[in-house]
Amino acid sequence: MKYQAVLFDLDGTIYYGNKMIDGADSVVKRFRDEGKKVFFMTNNSTKSRKEIYDKLCNMGLECYEDEVYTSGYAAALYAKEKGFETVYICGTSGLEDEFEKAGIKISDKADVVVVGYDMGFDYDKLTEALQVALNAKAIIACNREKHYPGEGAKRMPGCGAMVGALEGCTGRVADYVVGKPNPLLLEIICHQQGLSKDDIMVIGDTYESDIMMSNEYGCKSIYIGNEKHDDTITVKDIREVNELWEI
Ligand SMILES: [Mg+2]
Repeated sequence: MKYQAVLFDLDGTIYYGNKMIDGADSVVKRFRDEGKKVFFMTNNSTKSRKEIYDKLCNMGLECYEDEVYTSGYAAALYAKEKGFETVYICGTSGLEDEFEKAGIKISDKADVVVVGYDMGFDYDKLTEALQVALNAKAIIACNREKHYPGEGAKRMPGCGAMVGALEGCTGRVADYVVGKPNPLLLEIICHQQGLSKDDIMVIGDTYESDIMMSNEYGCKSIYIGNEKHDDTITVKDIREVNELWEI
C-alpha cells in the first residue's frame, strides 16, 4: 500500500445524525494500526472543527481536532487567501467561529457573504443576508449539496437550498463554491500535512461529491453505496473496507 493517509467523509460514512455507523470505528482503527494518517472531511459548515471533534469523541471515535476538516474552515482559509477583511455569515455560529479564528472581521457591511447550512435559516435571515449581498464583492457558498442523510437515513435539505434562496433574491450566482466536489479540501489537507495526491485515499458515500472530488484531484477512492461505478472501488457497507486487503 503506497498511500500514507486515509480521508473519511463523515455524513453517511462515519455517522448518520448523532449515531456512529456500525463498524466505522473498526475501519478507522485498521488504518491507524497500519500506520496511516487519518483525516475526516465534511461539507457540513454548521459546526466548527472543534465541535465536530467533540461530536466524534462523544460517539466513541478516537481522533484529534486537527484531523477534522470542514467546508467552513476551508471557506475561511479561502476568504483570507483572497484578501477579504470583512465577512457576513449567512449560517451558524460554528461557521462564524472559523472566520473569527482566521482573523476575518464579521460585519453587516462586509466584502463577502458566506452561505452555510443552517437549520434555523428563515425569511428574516435571508432578508438580512440580501441587504449585505447586494453590495458585497462576492458570495461564497460552503457547498451546493441538495440533500444529505439524517438520522435513519432520512433525506434532509442541504446547503444548496440556502445558497439557492440567496441566489434567487439577488439574481447573482455564488462566485465560489468551497465544498466537495471542489477538491479544495483535499488541496488544503495535502498542503498542510505535506502529502501529495498519490499519498491519499478518500472513502465516502456520495459519488457526486466524494468520488468526483477524488477523480478531479487524481487520488484513489472507495465508494460506499449501491450504485455501479467503474472508476472507483465500491463496497456496500463500510465494514467491507476491512475485507479489502489489496487496496
Ligand atoms: Mg457523505
